[in-house]
Amino acid sequence: MSAQSAVPGVFDLAVVGAGIIGLSCARAAALKGLRVVVIDRDAQANGASVRNFGLVVVAGQERGAAWNRAHRSCAIWQQVAQEAGIRILQRGLWITARRPEALPIFEAFLKTEMGEGCEILSREAAQARCPELAGKELHAVLVSLNSIRVESRQAIPKIADWLHARCGVQFLRNTAVLAVEPPRLETSRGIVQAGAVAVCPGDDLSGLYAPRIAAYHVTMWWHTLIELWAWHQPQKQLSDRSASPWDDATRRPSHSDRRNAMRRHCLEHDYRHEGVVRSIPRKIRCLWKRLMKLVA
Ligand SMILES: Cc1cc2nc3c(=O)[nH]c(=O)nc-3n(C[C@H](O)[C@H](O)[C@H](O)COP(=O)(O)OP(=O)(O)OC[C@H]3O[C@@H](n4cnc5c(N)ncnc54)[C@H](O)[C@@H]3O)c2cc1C
Repeated sequence: MSAQSAVPGVFDLAVVGAGIIGLSCARAAALKGLRVVVIDRDAQANGASVRNFGLVVVAGQERGAAWNRAHRSCAIWQQVAQEAGIRILQRGLWITARRPEALPIFEAFLKTEMGEGCEILSREAAQARCPELAGKELHAVLVSLNSIRVESRQAIPKIADWLHARCGVQFLRNTAVLAVEPPRLETSRGIVQAGAVAVCPGDDLSGLYAPRIAAYHVTMWWHTLIELWAWHQPQKQLSDRSASPWDDATRRPSHSDRRNAMRRHCLEHDYRHEGVVRSIPRKIRCLWKRLMKLVA
């Protein structure tokens, strides 16, 4: 291990990763007056934060803590955008109902606290405001005003520049963090000294803290599989809400419903496989059925 210092001085907080999560941590700490260094192995942001769609969406978030945080995030985004000179490309979000079954979902949503700042437009009203929405398939539009869109390839570098200029946050680019042992971080350029460390490495599941991450069984491909699974399903099955009670008054549409439906499907498929069923003792078969109920 090199004893050379990668950057002079001792920091209160070292942030690993200069994506949006790392920059958010850096901002929060710097606003509290802490000395912050952000370390990233790349010369510029290349991770999910610059590959994404730049949507700062409140309306689609999970009810409760997630929705409250999204609300707060959106307010912070607007404030930072103003201070850092980031253009807000779009304000508001339109969600179209292409089938009549979607309308009761919009109405149920409007009755919740999450409907604040949202309205439903009839087909005619929507088309009057936006003639591009012509077509027989449109039934109504849910308009949410509390969402914005930025261009992330522009926004992320601007936030970093703003953090440096306005809050004195230091950036160490082209520097990989190899080990974290506060108050020392071992990097590819030498040692960084910091009282605390926030590790924000994005989707790098095999680098820092790999064994701890592995304990959560995080998988990168589950979402893609759900989309693949949905691709060949008939429309009737996809709109069957019995496995996806999205319009239940007490909850919001949840991706986990579809995930559970798929898990159940996969487990049932494995279970019903002829050879497997025959070879499994009765007790295990009962446990298997109980497990399926728990999973899905
Ligand atoms: C196609 C797509 C579209 C999306 N659209 C949206 C959207 O519209 N709105 C939204 O809110 N979210 C969206 N997301 C999700 C969002 O982009 C991510 O949740 C978010 O960018 C994650 O940020 P991050 O900082 O954790 O990761 P990243 O942006 O990946 O940053 C992680 C950084 O850590 C660095 N790093 C990792 N390990 C080390 C190490 N050992 N040493 C030094 N540096 C290291 C990497 O170089 C990288 O720069 C989208 C994602 C994708 C893929």
